[in-house]
Amino acid sequence: MTKRLRCNIRGIVQGVGFRPFIHRLARRFKLSGWVRNDSGGVILEVQGEDGALHLFITAIRGEAPPLAVITGLTHEEIPPCNGDEFRILTSKGGGGAPEISPDWDVCPDCLRELFDPADRRYRYPFITCTNCGPRYSIITGTPYDRHLTTMAPYIMCPTCQGEYDDPANRRFHAQPNGCTLCGPTLTLTDASGEQVAGDPLAQAIRLLAAGKILAVKGTGGYHLAVDAANDDAVRELRKRKRRDEKPFALMAPELTEIRKFALPDIMEERLISSPERPIVLVRRRNDHNLSPAVAPANGYFGVMLPGTPLQHLLLRGNFPALVMTSGNLSDEPIAFRDEEARQVLSATADFFLAHDRSIQTRLDDSVIRVFQGNPLFLRRARGYAPRALPLPAGVRSVLAVGGELKGSICLTRGNQAFLSQHIGDLKNPETLASLEQTTEQLKRILEIEPELVAHDLHPDYLPTRWARESTGLPTVGVQHHHAHLASCMAENGLEGEVMGIIFDGTGFGPDGTIWGGEFLVGGYERFRRAGHIRQVPLPGGDAAVREPYRMALSWLRATFGPAAFHLPLPFIEALSPEEKKLFDRMICRGINSPLTSSCGRLFDGVAALLGVRTAVSYEGQAAIELEGIAEGGNKRPPLSFQIARDANDTLVLDFTPAFRELTEAFLAGDTPADLARAFHDTVAHGAAELCGAIRQDTGLRRVILSGGVFQNKLLAEGVHDLLSAQDFNVFTHRLVPPNDGGLALGQALIAGRSNICA
Ligand code: ZN
Ligand code: ZN
Ligand code: FE
Repeated sequence: MTKRLRCNIRGIVQGVGFRPFIHRLARRFKLSGWVRNDSGGVILEVQGEDGALHLFITAIRGEAPPLAVITGLTHEEIPPCNGDEFRILTSKGGGGAPEISPDWDVCPDCLRELFDPADRRYRYPFITCTNCGPRYSIITGTPYDRHLTTMAPYIMCPTCQGEYDDPANRRFHAQPNGCTLCGPTLTLTDASGEQVAGDPLAQAIRLLAAGKILAVKGTGGYHLAVDAANDDAVRELRKRKRRDEKPFALMAPELTEIRKFALPDIMEERLISSPERPIVLVRRRNDHNLSPAVAPANGYFGVMLPGTPLQHLLLRGNFPALVMTSGNLSDEPIAFRDEEARQVLSATADFFLAHDRSIQTRLDDSVIRVFQGNPLFLRRARGYAPRALPLPAGVRSVLAVGGELKGSICLTRGNQAFLSQHIGDLKNPETLASLEQTTEQLKRILEIEPELVAHDLHPDYLPTRWARESTGLPTVGVQHHHAHLASCMAENGLEGEVMGIIFDGTGFGPDGTIWGGEFLVGGYERFRRAGHIRQVPLPGGDAAVREPYRMALSWLRATFGPAAFHLPLPFIEALSPEEKKLFDRMICRGINSPLTSSCGRLFDGVAALLGVRTAVSYEGQAAIELEGIAEGGNKRPPLSFQIARDANDTLVLDFTPAFRELTEAFLAGDTPADLARAFHDTVAHGAAELCGAIRQDTGLRRVILSGGVFQNKLLAEGVHDLLSAQDFNVFTHRLVPPNDGGLALGQALIAGRSNICA
């Protein structure tokens, strides 16, 4: 019997791919109807057979996108209507303003055809339909129509055109539709640009199996691929990419293959299998058969499943896993234009597996780790951008340009925020150009004309300069950690005043020092610094970021005074008497040694003290490795710390007592693993105790956790558990990264709520 239901779904169901999920589900159960967002949730109507409706409702909860949290699902029966399609309607109040879909993996229907020898698109690397494939990466303008995509040059053959024109066909108005006769084609060339004879796909598989390095064109740019089980090939790639230690991502054909080298839990498997196809950090198995050079000194593998038909074809039945690392020079954006890729990558790649459909928008792979059963973005890009994030209330149209590291921009429209894909570290003109392109592209396709531009307070950050000098818009400077606070508040839909623990690397403080271990009280309109980690000098400024032993020296000098330089620690004994004298002068007189309360640098210092890492080859490496060894450590009581009030009545969390105990225990032979573990617990206890003091002063119970240091799972869990046990309401990030990749969202909210005149 045919029935029609109206369902109301509450929770985190916007900005997580919920409507396309409902659309796929409705198709699977052959239901008609529609779905749309409304204030605070999703509303849908479905019509079909009783049994199918029942399965559909069950599947909403059982198979919801991993980023979603359903807190309420109600349904009622209503009279049936005519019509047999299922449609996604634009949001009520959105005024028909455009939303652009992210790029998604091949859908199950297309995948079946791809491997069906009887299908006319058998092994066709560009198979797609209305439910899958490239979107944001190929769109050149709005409305989303073939002539405004990079498919414009391809004229459909009569069969494809027939599919495109038939409302009953899965490819009705599928803009990237094509086939072997009329669509894009694959090419295989060597590093000099010579075509390789034979079938490009078969030859590419043969070359990979022979240990060659291939540049492979993906959704948003080029990857460098090698057989992950071939140790020589992986080492050769490291050598050519001049990348000594940073882990390489892996792509495996199926979950069953991933389980042979890693240990994904249920949530990790759901994320890996989701159509967004992110890289997910998964604990690796000790008995894996891949090259040890894939992820040296790291307990995790970054793994993903194929996200394009070409990747499915390359992997299935051919390799247990391929290394798939971004095709770029270090510090530069991923190569996405064919000529540029050839120039930049010809010294690294032996061959190029490419095609003639151009990429309009550069997109890196997204990276996620699971924290307490919830997704935590380390990098948000392909598959998620430029999905609209719901805001607690409408704001003015703002452009926010982010910070310096892990750049991304944000545009707002009404009660929606559009956070761009990860752009990269903005330390060179190439990345700034990429930020400008991204801004122009998003403004155009989302049809947003911002009234204001928000930027970080740091005067020398490239995006700050660009915002002030080149946008021609009124500017709003936003303090770095205030932006982190607002970012976490916004994605949790919070209003009013909260307290925030912002544990971060570096951020410009209004007092001229470098902030980064902050306890803030405030909301979108204003904030104050209620507490911070004790400041120590950062000897040599940026050099201290690359050489964590400098931070160890600084903390030890603060702990032991001049005696620090006589401690029998290997990294101190390695210094010459002149160097010791120089460091002592720098630290004591503040020569090229600005004061910092940075939590990231605190972890660096401990990593160096415990001999984990005295110099790093990529940002955050020491802290990541410290967390890695701490996970294997035994639990023991936390170390000592002090909380005091300074002259401004600001609470100061001092870890010099912990440094004294760590040094003594380390010299007495305690294992670095146990001590690293104890240190993580100590920071968590210190943070929780300081929050308790702020609660006494303010009565606030809501705490948000933000800042790049909260990518550290052990610390985040420790802080979260202690605060929850003390009856705090703890809010963390789920839709945007806690690191500077989420900064622009907070900047946009703060500026969008301001009353600065345009
Ligand atoms: Zn499809
Ligand atoms: Zn065709
Ligand atoms: Fe930050």
